[in-house]
Amino acid sequence: MGLFSLLFGRRCYICGNPIRRKYYPWKIKGRRRILCPNCNQSMERDVSKKKMAAFKGKSKQKIDTNVVKELEKTKEELQKVKLMLEEQKKLEEQRRIDAEKEREEQARIDAEKQKEEAARKKQVDDVSDLAEDYLKKLKKK
Ligand SMILES: [Zn+2]
Repeated sequence: MGLFSLLFGRRCYICGNPIRRKYYPWKIKGRRRILCPNCNQSMERDVSKKKMAAFKGKSKQKIDTNVVKELEKTKEELQKVKLMLEEQKKLEEQRRIDAEKEREEQARIDAEKQKEEAARKKQVDDVSDLAEDYLKKLKKK
């Protein structure tokens, strides 16, 4: 490395290697600097990596938000289903109670009919007893 290039030559701001042909301008901490192709490449990779990380962070945040929203929606739907099931259970219980009442009412009606039937039979028996007695009395005469 000659004195000339040391004093006047372009050097890469990062690695300090002399820049012979192509150089790459960068603004580093607010100042214009020049980089060799190698350092330019790693700077570009670095910038890209940072951008990618930021992008992934945003995407992850977006995904997290979506997951939370989805979960809330599912929770709401489950709550609705639960309410519907409870409503259905109530209806079924009411239907069961109504059926039970109907059965009881039918049993009461049946018992009443039986009672009436028995009373009618007794009446008929009484009348035929009376008629028999009367016939017996007639025969004796
Ligand atoms: Zn360099």
